[in-house]
Amino acid sequence: MIRQALIIEEGPGLAWQNGIIPKGAWPVGGLTLVERSARNLFAAGVEEILVLAGTGADWYRKLAESHADLRLLPAGAGAQAFHGDTLVLFSDLLYEAAALTVLINETRRDVRIASEAGDAAGLGRLSRETLEAALRPAEASAAEQIAALSEAMAGAALRPGGVLLWRRIQDETRRGAAESGLFPKIQEADALRNVRREVLLNPGPATTSDSVKYAQVCADICPREREFGEVMEWTVRELSRMAGQPGRVETVLFGGSGTAADEAMISSCVPDGAKLLVIDNGAYGERLAKIASVYKLNFEVYKSSGFAPLDCEAVKAKLAQGDFTHLAIVYHETTTGLLNPAPELCRFCHERGIATIVDAVSAFAAIPIDMDRDAFDFMASTSNKNIQGMAGVGFVFCRVEALEKTAGYPMRNYYLNLWDQHAHFKKTRQTRFTPPVQSLYALRQAILETRREGIEKRYARYASCWEVLVKAVKRIGLSMLVPEASQSRLITAILDPPSPNYSFEALHDLARSGGFTIYPGKLSEADTFRIANIGDIRPAEMLAFTGLLEDYIHSL
Ligand code: PLP
Repeated sequence: MIRQALIIEEGPGLAWQNGIIPKGAWPVGGLTLVERSARNLFAAGVEEILVLAGTGADWYRKLAESHADLRLLPAGAGAQAFHGDTLVLFSDLLYEAAALTVLINETRRDVRIASEAGDAAGLGRLSRETLEAALRPAEASAAEQIAALSEAMAGAALRPGGVLLWRRIQDETRRGAAESGLFPKIQEADALRNVRREVLLNPGPATTSDSVKYAQVCADICPREREFGEVMEWTVRELSRMAGQPGRVETVLFGGSGTAADEAMISSCVPDGAKLLVIDNGAYGERLAKIASVYKLNFEVYKSSGFAPLDCEAVKAKLAQGDFTHLAIVYHETTTGLLNPAPELCRFCHERGIATIVDAVSAFAAIPIDMDRDAFDFMASTSNKNIQGMAGVGFVFCRVEALEKTAGYPMRNYYLNLWDQHAHFKKTRQTRFTPPVQSLYALRQAILETRREGIEKRYARYASCWEVLVKAVKRIGLSMLVPEASQSRLITAILDPPSPNYSFEALHDLARSGGFTIYPGKLSEADTFRIANIGDIRPAEMLAFTGLLEDYIHSL
């Protein structure tokens, strides 16, 4: 796995609009060469791009402000900055993205792409050892480092890339020619890899980016290899960071869906002699109660309306009266889009020493969560919802102290035991049983993309899609089941139109023919259909869907 890339800005700068700019700052097709490279590299799974700037360091520093995961190679720390084999390219290169796939799949560690005639593309892959040798000594100037790296690249094996499109752009004449000639061809070649777009407006699995889909297409690997253990270790570290402060949260991975994570929590965290209160105001609260009943736990259910806001004071009164030791609640009831006041109730529980178990399957990675601030002891989610990965990985986030308390609890099941899975992973960097390897590679890419977008910004994007939907629903004259103020802004339950001609199947098929997938309602109390707005989707796509919805409703 290649985790890093190094972009070399050799200089000298180029004249552009009355000034001199670094070569990588030259625009082609409306994007600078380096930003285009960054887009390609991040889509290919690169975690971090380092820039060695012989000139234009200020421009790159500014660029780094708006590009998380891109930074200047720290002076003097060159050799230590690399973790393994690294993609190396010059800043003035325009190339088709498949070139990166070719290098990632190379078996040779020091290799560069060249034309049939032997001209080097300025794009290669160098091993950590070669990079370390080239970047030594620490006091070497950027110019000396660039010269040494160019030499290292020249010494790398040639990999003829005859069919690949690329050009180094070193003056205005070549830039102009590349923009009108090569660039459209590169766009066409890159577009050949696009996967057919399906906009999933069902509440997960959610629409994923092509880069997440492609992350699954990789060399076969035995999951017991150290390399794969490192992927999982990185994954749990990054997930934990999304749920709390560093060192405060442990994430435990299971091969399984969101329900597996829910079952692992309920079955592993409520010991004999404890008493659990389960809030049930939708299908997923009901499911938590069902799991508790299967394991014959000592529990009570607090039943509430599936669409009216939960009465927080009444739940607190119930908790205060009983001898409850645990509370289980769904943060976002995906059944209807109702957002429960989980942080308020969990904080109340913490003040009374009641442990909290939260199903955040459809809340995590959209609604910002800090498990310490929100007083969540255990929290479940999954790889195929707001994190925008593929189905197959369930995860349980645990506040460290809460998890440690479960160490001595007798096991009620085998596969889904939280402590055993955690303890084994800590010791071995492996899950106890075969992990869903390709789903985990996709999850890694999804985490990188979530990190780059930021959870707050992701939620804002989702909310923009929801606003488009709600505006259209009102304009069309439809009604929503849940009062707007209590909605999650992630999924909306819409009451079926009163027309006798309405058919969900007909609406579904019309939407599907336009590339949109919608979902039926799930509540016995009301006839609804549901539109989710999570995943890799944009407000413009929601607008296009609402056009279809409006046409359908008018046709009734
Ligand atoms: N909990 C909530 C809140 C959900 O929305 C879902 C699925 O939509 C689940 C649990 C169950 O997840 P899965 O279908 O992945 O088992």
